[in-house]
Amino acid sequence: MLTLEALRPKKRLFLGLLLASEIFVAVALYGAWKISYLGLENISEYLPAIVGALLILAGTVSFGAVCNMVLALKGLPTLKLFHRWSFALIKYLFPVAVRIGKIFGIRRRQLEGSFVAVSNLIFIKSGIKVPAERLLVLSPHCLQLSSCPHKITRDPHNCKRCGRCNVGDLMKLSDELGFTFFVATGGTLARQMVKKIRPQAVLAIACERDLMSGIQDVYPLPAVGVLNIRPNGPCNNTRVDIDEVRRVLNRIIERE
Ligand code: SF4
Repeated sequence: MLTLEALRPKKRLFLGLLLASEIFVAVALYGAWKISYLGLENISEYLPAIVGALLILAGTVSFGAVCNMVLALKGLPTLKLFHRWSFALIKYLFPVAVRIGKIFGIRRRQLEGSFVAVSNLIFIKSGIKVPAERLLVLSPHCLQLSSCPHKITRDPHNCKRCGRCNVGDLMKLSDELGFTFFVATGGTLARQMVKKIRPQAVLAIACERDLMSGIQDVYPLPAVGVLNIRPNGPCNNTRVDIDEVRRVLNRIIERE
């Protein structure tokens, strides 16, 4: 269930490691600046100060981006200017965070899941509401039963709703609530659908890794993620908690 309480430990994990990565990179860059100081000075007497100022600016912006995320999670006003930087920062610092996390026995998937939890919480705290017809719900192809003969990736209406996988349940929800539902075979097709439909918000169902990249890819479009369930391992006859999907939909669909 997507409750604030349930997400609390996860978001701390992500933000903590992001901050640790930022400190690590800042120290490394300071060291590199110190070592190259004389070399820079040989080129121009102003160069060390210019490079130093640029590094301080980058450090301030990235620290501001993390603070912005913390403010958003606390429901406090944030600076929109930092939103885009937050995603850029995550893109560049995430590999460092994964390596630091490894030292403490934290798996990459845990960290990706924590990012999704943080992003979802920011989405919910922003109070975003969209009309159902402007909402796109995307699900991965592995949600379809592998033995199902019906071609649903071009048109999910080809699903016969036999009840053997969650695609039929999502089709029923789509009919009931009025959102657009699409089954994507990969990130490229998902992005194409977003471009074509031009929704106001996206609800994506996927694994931690795909949700993390997808949420960043569609920014500034607001996106909320629901993790799939993988009883047969990754990408094979996956499931989704339909009650959780419904709960998230109820939070974001605007009622007249
Ligand atoms: S619910 Fe739809 S997609 Fe799933 S197995 Fe049945 S017909 Fe195929």
